[in-house]
Amino acid sequence: MAGATRRLTDAGVDSPRVDAELLLASVLGVSRGRLLTLLVVPDDVAVRFGALLDQRADRVPLQHLTGRAPFRYLELAVGPGVFVPRPETEQLAGWAVQQLAGLAAPVVVDLGAGSGALALSIAHEHPGARVTAVERDPGAIEWTRHNAADRAVAGDTPVQVLPGDMTDPQLLRGLDGSVDLVVSNPPYVPDGARVPREVADHDPPLALWGGPDGLDVVRGLLVTAARLLRAGGLLGIEHADQQGSSLPALVRAHGSYTEVEDHPDLAGRPRFTTARRA
Ligand code: GLN
Repeated sequence: MAGATRRLTDAGVDSPRVDAELLLASVLGVSRGRLLTLLVVPDDVAVRFGALLDQRADRVPLQHLTGRAPFRYLELAVGPGVFVPRPETEQLAGWAVQQLAGLAAPVVVDLGAGSGALALSIAHEHPGARVTAVERDPGAIEWTRHNAADRAVAGDTPVQVLPGDMTDPQLLRGLDGSVDLVVSNPPYVPDGARVPREVADHDPPLALWGGPDGLDVVRGLLVTAARLLRAGGLLGIEHADQQGSSLPALVRAHGSYTEVEDHPDLAGRPRFTTARRA
């Protein structure tokens, strides 16, 4: 494990030891904790582990190599074509679930659902919710559908998956004025910003880039959410570290929202903005 860790360290991987352990655990089909009880690694396992280390050293995301991404209580299938859900998005999901407390059958829309992390977590943690997951990327929506089907088989209330663009004025017209909660982790990275190779080369561009200030898609999202939400309905949007003032300012300037607040992630960085439809 020391050699594997050194390989990944030399390749510039952020958490080399943990990644090496998770890759070996995934080859063996055991939990990372079980590795402690492992005395010898069979040759065929060593060969498969070596191949995965090569790819990780070439900065293929860990989650593409294991095929799974943990998110709150779920484990989602991920791979080429879909944005890997990040731990810092879990707070937005938690906020969303808290807001639904006491509502028996709230109507929820996730705009730009990707793997389905937000939509499927909400459906899992608030079983009465009627959740629609919207995704515009034809490659990504295959993963949304796959994960939604898996969760339905596991017994969660089915989530409706809909191809669509969150800035489209015709999107979900039938729900106008009736939605209790809109959540989104939209593409918000400013064009030209430096991102790690794992992100630049493997996350779908449509999930990342948001124009010169990163807020181009968000501007359209605010219009769509204002149309969909009922009076008093809630909006939660993730944003970049540098958008902790600019995104709330944009929401206030829109004119349809009150109670605009910004929230930090667990690392203390500004991470998501919430507001209420006036
Ligand atoms: N947080 C992501 C990253 O740093 C970007 C996510 C997004 O644009 N929604 O790569």
